[in-house]
Amino acid sequence: MRAKPQRTCVACRRKGDQATFLRIVAAADGRIGLNPAARLQGRSAYICRNLNCYELALKNRSLERSLRRQIPEEILQELKELIEVEDKKRKELV
Ligand SMILES: [Zn+2]
Repeated sequence: MRAKPQRTCVACRRKGDQATFLRIVAAADGRIGLNPAARLQGRSAYICRNLNCYELALKNRSLERSLRRQIPEEILQELKELIEVEDKKRKELV
C-alpha cells in the first residue's frame, strides 16, 4: 500500500487522510476558498468535520495563523454551515 500524505487539523492537531478534513485555501491572489473544487493553489489549512474543532479554531485563531491571513466573516460562516451539515449527518448515522 502506498502511504497517503497526512494532514493535520489546525484545531486539535489530529492527523489523518486529506479526505477526512475540510480544506481552506488562501490563494496567492487573496481569495479564500473552502474545499475548492476548482483547484485553488495556495496555502492550505485543514480542519476536522466537527463543531468542536471549529469552535476551537475560532477561539485560538488557528486558521488565521495557519493561513497567515484574516478570514472573512462569510467564509467562517460558510465553513460553519458545512461542518454543521457533516455533524448532523454523522449524528443521524449513530
Ligand atoms: Zn480537529
